[in-house]
Amino acid sequence: TLSDRLNNVFDRLRGRGALNEQDVRDAMREVRVALLEADVALPVARDFIARVTERAVGQEVLKSVTPGQQVIKIVNDELVTMLGGEDASGEATPLNLDVKPPAVVMMVGLQGSGKTTSTAKIAKLLKDKNGKKALMASLDVNRPAAQEQLAILGEQAGVATLPIIQGQQPVDIARRALESARLQNVDVLLLDTAGRLHVDEALMAEMKAVAAVSEPAEVLLVVDSLTGQDAVNVAQSFTEEVPLTGVVLTRMDGDARGGAALSMRAVTGKPIKFAGTGEKLDAIERFHPARVADRILGMGDVVSLVEKAAESIKAEEAEELAQRMMAGKFDMNDLRKQLQQMQNMGGLGMLAGMMPGMKKAKQAMAQSGMDDKVLVHMDAIISSMTRKERAHPQLLNAKRKKRVAAGSGTSVQEVNKILKMHQEMGRAMKQIKRMGGLKGLAAMFG
Ligand code: GDP
Ligand code: MG
Repeated sequence: TLSDRLNNVFDRLRGRGALNEQDVRDAMREVRVALLEADVALPVARDFIARVTERAVGQEVLKSVTPGQQVIKIVNDELVTMLGGEDASGEATPLNLDVKPPAVVMMVGLQGSGKTTSTAKIAKLLKDKNGKKALMASLDVNRPAAQEQLAILGEQAGVATLPIIQGQQPVDIARRALESARLQNVDVLLLDTAGRLHVDEALMAEMKAVAAVSEPAEVLLVVDSLTGQDAVNVAQSFTEEVPLTGVVLTRMDGDARGGAALSMRAVTGKPIKFAGTGEKLDAIERFHPARVADRILGMGDVVSLVEKAAESIKAEEAEELAQRMMAGKFDMNDLRKQLQQMQNMGGLGMLAGMMPGMKKAKQAMAQSGMDDKVLVHMDAIISSMTRKERAHPQLLNAKRKKRVAAGSGTSVQEVNKILKMHQEMGRAMKQIKRMGGLKGLAAMFG
């Protein structure tokens, strides 16, 4: 992967005392290959290398005591810029909804890119995090049931959708949505437009017409990061036709090679505002260039992990759980809570991608047979235990295990896995205690 390759280059740089210009150029040649292999568009990669090289061969870098570190820092800074950091802070670029309400957010992109899902995710985010009153309307009259799809997502997200009138055309739906939004004092109106399999004139014409009547504050291009170089081409075509204000990059949970994210700013001139990280409605993050750069450089995205954890774990519950673990009263009910929280955080794969060193931990977990499937089965297994067994798992002898396995539709082997997990978490907790408790851990991250 990109981060593995960059890390190889960096390990070599780090290990060196003095560097000369040739060392830097050699390293940059490797960085360039790594970028191209990750599907970064050629001109973007070329530009990147030129900027880094120019800064890195400067005298103050080569003469410093830690030239390798300096070069790595320059690569990091330039990555942040390339990912669309407005300034050195590398913060997420917010939506600009500072207009006379309703602020219209128009979602555009190819079919299957994740427009409808992202529309609902962003509406939910605005409602939950910013206290905005949102309304969503689907203008997709091409795809059967597209409007119903948005209505269902709206129900799940707790966001209103415009009632469907069969046969109405996109521009008319947009007008009706605006009117309805004004009448209901809606803050943000999200318009989910139709996509097609390819960029074509009819699609562009429809988009322009909708933009003309709705005067959007934001036009967000939704692109699938898994499509790599294609995503870049799509972005290019849309940029030429509609006044985009930002990009939503979906399927960042998959094994995209990162190239799309890296090229998007250069190609569209607009920042990536959100990253989709899964199918669930809360699987969306504001796109922080600095954090993504960190992740690419393999340092792990501890900040977003901690944020996610804080969101999905209710503080009091976590505190109580920690107390019980410390006191050695960590039973099956606690384990169930803990596993549910892990699931809320996006499962093991998500955690592994975000935490430094988690890759190895994940491999170890996989070897001991723990994976996301276990998270799904665990509920059934723990539910099949009696109250006594849950409080005192050591009661589970072979006979009882068989009963639990039958009751949960799993196997004794799987029941054993859960029990083992429970033991190991108890052990981990003791270690944490030795390291100064949760406070000590928090200090390490602080
Ligand atoms: P549209 O045709 O552009 O409206 O695309 P949809 O919103 O209907 O999404 C197509 C499929 O992609 C659906 O199955 C979504 O659940 C899935 N999807 C959308 N965004 C993401 C994402 O960020 N990660 C993953 N894994 N799946 C996504
Ligand atoms: Mg759709």
